[in-house]
Amino acid sequence: MKITQIDLFNRNLPYQGETYSLSGGRDYTEFQAVIVRMLSDDGFIGWGESTPFGGTYIAAHARGAVAGIEELAPALLGQDPRCHERVCDVMEQTLLGHNHARAPLDIACWDLAAQHYQVPVCTLLGGSTRQRMPIISSIYSGKPDNMRERVAKHRAMGYRGHSIKIGADEADGGVALDAERIIACLADRKPGEYFLADANGGLTPDSVMRLLALLPKQTDIVLEAPCKTWHETKQVRQHCWLPILLDELIQYDDDLITTIEQRLADGIGLKISKAGGLTPARRQRDICRAAGLSMSVQDTVGSSIAFAGIVHLAQTVPGRLLRCVLDTRDMVSGHVAELDAPLENGGVMAPNTPGLGLRVDLAKLGEPAFTWTL
Ligand SMILES: [Mg+2]
Repeated sequence: MKITQIDLFNRNLPYQGETYSLSGGRDYTEFQAVIVRMLSDDGFIGWGESTPFGGTYIAAHARGAVAGIEELAPALLGQDPRCHERVCDVMEQTLLGHNHARAPLDIACWDLAAQHYQVPVCTLLGGSTRQRMPIISSIYSGKPDNMRERVAKHRAMGYRGHSIKIGADEADGGVALDAERIIACLADRKPGEYFLADANGGLTPDSVMRLLALLPKQTDIVLEAPCKTWHETKQVRQHCWLPILLDELIQYDDDLITTIEQRLADGIGLKISKAGGLTPARRQRDICRAAGLSMSVQDTVGSSIAFAGIVHLAQTVPGRLLRCVLDTRDMVSGHVAELDAPLENGGVMAPNTPGLGLRVDLAKLGEPAFTWTL
């Protein structure tokens, strides 16, 4: 089996809400998707997506993903898409780093391989747990009552996890406002719900300490990505009575090993494009499992193509370690593909069809910006 053609498509994905606000004054209204189509000599079509969260979330941006794929795609022509580790070796030998450029190519290989074997991608990744997986909302930062309303709206839609964005500037209310946001969002909590307070690296160690002092001691929430650097995170970990989940800081395997070695977190945000595709994300899943770290399986953002990778990987994580799955489909409009993975009975399941299970609407996708052929 050989890769014979790779196409790259660009696509705008407008945010479904008004403006998505994160700590540090970062606002987003749309995202640039980079979508890859990969053809094999046995007639299958594989898909993959990388949609960076703007250029200020991690060191990744859409034009960088395109430039990286321009380097990587020619080297993958003629490779066997079933040999995932070898495909990663070729990418490593062609371009160091640039995980967000590697990811859609790696994901498309999994889609091709699974169609070749006529099984769902989750079967190749280790097998489905057959458990319905809880979905997590992404509640951008705003006024406490408004955030509480958005939690309620997502609860009504069947979401059982909620990620509350915090990290207010001092001038806007600082940690006092963040504490109000958390308390408001937890006010109507239902049994079985899971809450994260995600600062996206926007707090300093002293502001975390001040925030903790403002929260009632029985607050049941996990603090996500409190600080921007490893050093700051170590400082926080020494004093923090809440569990910590790390996200932006963990991209490469080495970051995860450091986290475990130094006992810096109790869980991670496992984002597929941040890890460089399903092959490294599978490895990080296994490292987390061995270390007993819980996982929130996600991607930075993306369309239903990105969600397909998320839902198949998450479907292989044992239930006791799987906190939540991020449904990127609800964050953006402008989808070009259908995926049979509805939110029902409080969760989702990966489709049971060969490959990722995507039905891409080529008319909506338009013409490729680049094509490489064998
Ligand atoms: Mg996060």
